Amino acid sequence: MTHVNAPAPQRAVIIGAGIAGLACAVRLRAAGFAVTLLERHGTVGGKIRTIPSDAGPIDAGPTVLTMRHVFDDLFAQLGTRVEDHVTLIKQNELARHFWPDGSTLSLYADEERTVGALRTFGGPEAVADFLKFTKRTRQLFSAFDAPMMQAPEPKLAALTKHVLRQPHLIPAMAPLSTLKTLLKRSFRDPRLRQLFGRYATYVGGSPTHAPAILSLIWQAEANGVWVVKSGMHKLTQALGRLLDAHGVETHTNAHVDRIETQNGHAKAVHLANGTHIPCDVLIHAGDPRALATGALGPATTHIAKQTAKAKRSFSARVLSFAAAPHGPDLAHHNVFFAEDAQSEFNDLMAGRIPAHPSFYICALDRGHGKHTPQLERFEIITNAPATADDKVEDLSPWLHQITRQMAQHGISFSPTPDTTTITTPQAFAQMFPATQGALYGQTPHGLTAALQRPTARTKIPNLYLAGGGTHPGAGVPMATLSARHAVEAILSDQISTSRSAPTATRGGMSTA
Ligand SMILES: Cc1cc2nc3c(=O)[nH]c(=O)nc-3n(C[C@H](O)[C@H](O)[C@H](O)COP(=O)(O)OP(=O)(O)OC[C@H]3O[C@@H](n4cnc5c(N)ncnc54)[C@H](O)[C@@H]3O)c2cc1C
Repeated sequence: MTHVNAPAPQRAVIIGAGIAGLACAVRLRAAGFAVTLLERHGTVGGKIRTIPSDAGPIDAGPTVLTMRHVFDDLFAQLGTRVEDHVTLIKQNELARHFWPDGSTLSLYADEERTVGALRTFGGPEAVADFLKFTKRTRQLFSAFDAPMMQAPEPKLAALTKHVLRQPHLIPAMAPLSTLKTLLKRSFRDPRLRQLFGRYATYVGGSPTHAPAILSLIWQAEANGVWVVKSGMHKLTQALGRLLDAHGVETHTNAHVDRIETQNGHAKAVHLANGTHIPCDVLIHAGDPRALATGALGPATTHIAKQTAKAKRSFSARVLSFAAAPHGPDLAHHNVFFAEDAQSEFNDLMAGRIPAHPSFYICALDRGHGKHTPQLERFEIITNAPATADDKVEDLSPWLHQITRQMAQHGISFSPTPDTTTITTPQAFAQMFPATQGALYGQTPHGLTAALQRPTARTKIPNLYLAGGGTHPGAGVPMATLSARHAVEAILSDQISTSRSAPTATRGGMSTA
């Protein structure tokens, strides 16, 4: 537990109880703050949300955990362990992949097993290409973990210096290449290019436009995938209970519609119901674009300004339903590829709902090492552009198309999911203010995309940012890491302020 040597308790207010807001609350409470967590929805969790069904709540957001150490560290802040609150099941099989020609390939936590599967799938060439590629991504992941993901405010100059000190990283980064180009050079088998290109979509991007360095996302999965027993929502519910037990005041159905400032400092937040809550420190853990676009009032439109103009990451059409499956045996995490790898990304880049998308099926009740119930819970995710104008009348033909594609892979469900089970980009846009439906903040496209995101500190000295729209980016572990960056910035700013003269400003910081 970290303790701050400041007049306590100071009142910290957090806007948004997604994983980032919850993680900020844990850390601030551990540091001795009186914490109020405000969430516009009726439950905590944000994009880690569920849809009710006859088989119980079905995840309609992320489905697995990677980078477990991030969560071990988070729970340790309050002197407890993640496994005391949820059951985490490490997956031997990371993902099962299916192609329209009938070929399948599983990737495993155990690399030897993956190599065996690859040998059957594509012979010695596939094995050799994979081993070379995975060596490269392992090298990139470990080289960029500290200076990029763990660094609170990564700077181009520091990264350049880091790379120049290890020149062997330059070819591994393929700095001028897109992920697609890198994969073309790395794999002779087009199916493997399609498979590893998929990882760009895990941060809402296309392999055709994402930088080659995003190949390291595969490594986050290769380092271990955990399923949370009964669903990812159990993790955020557990954090909610932990915060209650530690005296954090959580208010749900509490939409913040204005931040009030005084003398350049955040003074209070105003809720849609007319309540106002004063704060000494404020963290905005929703999409930072909400500040820049004025969704939180006129006083904060100069914050995270770049997000107002930046292109958005992809959204998704997501089906969550309970049914009995027929067809190929499914793992927890399954990817069904479309015939034409490129057409989906052409559609997405043109802002269209893909006509023939690849789709991801999460069989939520599998991967637990126990008997699978007859009525199983499923989440199907297909990529969609963030600004898609989803008309209800478009959903039915689209669902027919997806059902036809599934039938080509030999898979069907009884009952067949209907359009009421779909969450659309528009629905995401309505649920999560100022996101435009984008699930991963601003686009990951472009060489310096990772350096364009807002960081924790802002131009308002006691207003900080956290969440998947801020550094180090989207995804459950990254959003959780952003909370560490925000709270460490608060603590270090308080220490430096308490050591300085009363009029001192914070030196050397970057502002969003
Ligand atoms: C379908 C889908 C699949 C995904 N798959 C994966 C995956 O497999 N792995 C992975 O790591 N990540 C995945 N993600 C991404 C991951 O869910 C997000 O990156 C992460 O959950 C973001 O957390 P967050 O706390 O930053 O934001 P959010 O979860 O969006 O939380 C922000 C919260 O702030 C609240 N809020 C915003 N504005 C206000 C306001 N004015 N007043 C009050 N409350 C407010 C919102 O209601 C929300 O609850 C997926 C997401 C989706 C939707």
